[in-house]
Amino acid sequence: MTSDDEPTVPIVCSACETTTRVPLPDVAEAVDRHNENVHDGEAIAEIDPAIVESLADLVAEDMGLLDDDEDWD
Ligand SMILES: [Zn+2]
Repeated sequence: MTSDDEPTVPIVCSACETTTRVPLPDVAEAVDRHNENVHDGEAIAEIDPAIVESLADLVAEDMGLLDDDEDWD
């Protein structure tokens, strides 16, 4: 199970004190599954906040949202 070309994202669970790296496309599902299975549906596990910021930047750039600077009123 080595896939170097697939970006992975760390999921941090403060209750379990674990960090799990999962492929980007599986992140949302992995977080849901962990919280469902381990924490009875409570949203405790989350994507590493440090990563979320850079991901948001990446996604925003990707979508061209950062170019849209004149429309704020
Ligand atoms: Zn947990």
